[in-house]
Amino acid sequence: MAVDPDPATELELAAEADRRARAYLAGIGNRRAFPDPAAIEALTAFDEPLPATGASAADTIAMLDSYGSPATVASNGPDYYGFVIGATLPVAAAAERLAIAWDQCASSFDNSPAADRIEAVAARWILEILDLPRASAVNFGTSATACGIACLAAARRELLARSGWDIDRRGLAGAPRVRVVVSELVHITVKKSLRVLGFGLDDLTVAPVDAHGRIDPKRLPPLDGATMICLQAGEVNTGEFDPFAAIVDRAREAGSWVHVDGAFGLWARASGNLRSLTDAVDRADSWTVDAHKWLNTPYDGAMAIVRDAAALAGAMNSDAAYSAAAADSQKNLGLEFSRRARGIAIWAALRSLGRDGVEQLVDEHCRLARRLAHGLEAMGFERLNRTCLNQVLVRLPDDRSTRALREQIIADGEIWFGASVWQGRPAWRLSLSSWRTDDAAIDRALSVIGRQLCKRGIHRGNSNPFL
Ligand SMILES: *Cc1c(COP(=O)(O)O)cnc(C)c1O
Repeated sequence: MAVDPDPATELELAAEADRRARAYLAGIGNRRAFPDPAAIEALTAFDEPLPATGASAADTIAMLDSYGSPATVASNGPDYYGFVIGATLPVAAAAERLAIAWDQCASSFDNSPAADRIEAVAARWILEILDLPRASAVNFGTSATACGIACLAAARRELLARSGWDIDRRGLAGAPRVRVVVSELVHITVKKSLRVLGFGLDDLTVAPVDAHGRIDPKRLPPLDGATMICLQAGEVNTGEFDPFAAIVDRAREAGSWVHVDGAFGLWARASGNLRSLTDAVDRADSWTVDAHKWLNTPYDGAMAIVRDAAALAGAMNSDAAYSAAAADSQKNLGLEFSRRARGIAIWAALRSLGRDGVEQLVDEHCRLARRLAHGLEAMGFERLNRTCLNQVLVRLPDDRSTRALREQIIADGEIWFGASVWQGRPAWRLSLSSWRTDDAAIDRALSVIGRQLCKRGIHRGNSNPFL
C-alpha cells in the first residue's frame, strides 16, 4: 500500500494509536513488571519477510499493539525497580505527542524556531535547578553515554590546546599525552566513551574507592594540567557521591579538567535535603545528566553541560556554507546534526513540576528507598549501602538464596529489580525512580519478597510483618 494521501485517514490512524496508547496507560498498574514467556514467544509474529507490497497502516498499528504491548517491560508502571529507568510524567508524554506531530529537526533556529527557543529555555532552567554555572553550554543529547563523549571530547581538545596542540588540524598522531583518572567504580559507559575517543582502558589511572564506593581523596592519584578526571554523582549500586569538595579544587588548581557523570545522581542538587552530597560539584568543568531516568521524561533525553561554552562549541561545531547557524545552535553543541526536539518534553516536565515538584519527586523516591531498605532489613536482609539516595542494595546471608530468590520473584512477574555484584558477592539492586511508585507499591514489593522468603523457608522467626 502506498502512503494514503487522505488526511482523514491520517487523523483516524493517529486517533487509533492514541486510543491504544490510552488503553495501555490505563492498565499500566495491572501489568506484569516483566512480560511472561508466552508474550515473549508471541513476538515471533513480527518475524515476517520484508513485505513486497505494504500492509495497511491500521493493521500495522494493530499488530504493534497486539503483540508488542504485552511484551513490554512495565517500567512506566509503579512496580518496576530495575536500574534507574524512570517512568514518564503525563505532561512529558503529552508534550512528546505534540512534538511528534510537529516533526521538527531541532538542529538550529532555521530548522525550527520553536524547538530552538523552547530548548534554550529548558537549558537555562536545567542550569538553574541543578545550580550549575549559568553561562555553561547545554546540549540535549540522546543519552548520558553520548553526552559523555561530547564532554570528554571537549575536555581533551581543550587540554591539548593548552599545551599548544590543535587536535582539529593535527589529530592525535604525535599529540602530547592526555592522562585520564577514573574511579575504581566508574560507570561502564564512561569507559565506553573514553574507548570511543581512543583512550585505552589499560592506560586509565584508577582512583581507589572507600567502603561506600566513593573515591578516597587520601589515595587520589597525582593530577596535573594534562589530566582529565572523571567523578561521579550517584554510583549505580550505592547511589553514593564522590567527595567533590575534597577533589574538585585540588584538580582545578593542578589545571586538570573535571568531568562529572551525574546520569541520575545530579538530580540530588534539586533537593535541599540532599544538596550537601553534591557540594562543590558546580566547580567542575563538565557534567552529564539524564532527564529520561530520574526526571521521568521519555527516552531519549540527556544533557551535556560544559562550563566553558566555547570548549564544547569548538569540539562539536558542524557549520557548513549551506547550513550556517549560531555557534550555540544545538547542532554545534552535540554529536547529532539532525535530531528530534528532545528538549521539549524536558521543558514541559520542568514547567509543570517547578522547583518544588522536582524536589518532591527526588525526596519521595529517597524516602521510599529508605522504607524499602528498612523493610528488607527487618526480614533478615543484609543492607549493603546507606541508602543516601534512591538505591537499595541488599543481599541474603547466603549467596545461593540471594540469586535463587530473585529468580523466583522475577519469574512471578509482580515486581522486577536487578541483580548486581557488590564487593565480590551477589546482591539485589532496587532503584526507585517511577513517579507512580508510592507507599502502596512498597507494601506490595515487601509482601511479594516476604512471601517468597517464607515459601523457601529462608525466613525464620516471626518478625516478618508482611505475611
Ligand atoms: C545510566 C547511567 C549512565 C549512562 O546513561 P545513558 O543515558 O543510559 O547512556 C552513566 N552513568 C550512570 C551513573 C548511569 O546510571
